Amino acid sequence: MKERAIIAQTLPPSDWDGSAADIITDPAELLRLLELDPASLPAALAAARDFPLKVPRSYARRIRPGDPFDPLLHQVLSRAEELEQVPGFNEDPLEEADHTPVPGILHKYQGRVLLMVTGACAVHCRYCFRRHFPYNEHMPTRERLGAALEWLAGQSDISEVILSGGDPLSVTDRRLRELLAALEAIPHIRRLRIHSRLPVVMPERVSEGLLSMLASSRLKPVMVVHANHAAELDQAVAEALAALRRSGVLLLNQSVLLRGVNDDAGQLAALSERLFEVGVLPYYLHQLDRVAGAAHFAVSDARAALLMTELHRRLPGYLLPRLVREEPGAAGKTALPVSG
Ligand SMILES: *Cc1c(COP(=O)(O)O)cnc(C)c1O
Ligand code: SF4
Repeated sequence: MKERAIIAQTLPPSDWDGSAADIITDPAELLRLLELDPASLPAALAAARDFPLKVPRSYARRIRPGDPFDPLLHQVLSRAEELEQVPGFNEDPLEEADHTPVPGILHKYQGRVLLMVTGACAVHCRYCFRRHFPYNEHMPTRERLGAALEWLAGQSDISEVILSGGDPLSVTDRRLRELLAALEAIPHIRRLRIHSRLPVVMPERVSEGLLSMLASSRLKPVMVVHANHAAELDQAVAEALAALRRSGVLLLNQSVLLRGVNDDAGQLAALSERLFEVGVLPYYLHQLDRVAGAAHFAVSDARAALLMTELHRRLPGYLLPRLVREEPGAAGKTALPVSG
């Protein structure tokens, strides 16, 4: 029976409808499951009021019980520090509201646009720069999506659409299939990029339906997954990523440099090496966006540069992520100087 349960967990549903999602939303439950001190519950509850706690059960299983400093736990447990007001950290650090030609589209860089597919995520990363984003004003009702697609059809210089959100894979396969068909019908769009943390935090999301729609699309698929620590990449994640690769998806990774999670050359090197093992190349290492509630994750630029220098020493060039920051008004990600 036990074996059967394991098989049921690792075999993806052929068509994801979200109903199988098993997510922890109660801070008390998370603390109990992980054998952590209940004394931190009031702070966890207070910090979760603005931006609720959300942790897929399969992610929680990768957290070491009894360790309040576990780097995976640190990314998902709401904490008192989030409630502190820190100068320089505000609610819309990227001034995204200025780059939306139509609701649901974010057009900052030449040739590629972000299409916001949903406001929802399966996990709430406490450092998330979209934690205050006014999703309701941008979220794709059917009419809004129609208007966004119509706008795209008129922009012949755009060759790549980046599905974003929220997490674009948190919608059903049926909706993704409809969206893909609509994008395929626009001749100048050649590449489909999906920015998703789901293959890492909930690998069971990589359904047969998703794999087959990506394998059969006219659009060349690229997926940028989002792993911050080698311990996130367990066997189930490795299998989901291998299945994506077999379906012809180019896999890249972006991480965020996070104090207490991965601000250590050894950890970053281990992440790059583990990524390679599971068929993913490092792409970006982001300096944190200065969003209110995330100041306790910040790493200084000077320290980031030192970490990169050390990584450079330890890793082959193709396993080095580019250290970047997203800046309002820039024509692309800004590369940060690396000392050395
Ligand atoms: C990050 C980002 C992109 C993609 O940038 P690449 O350098 O191509 O990865 C596109 N549009 C927006 C608004 C972005 O934030
Ligand atoms: S998955 Fe991405 S968008 Fe969603 S909470 Fe985490 S960082 Fe933010």
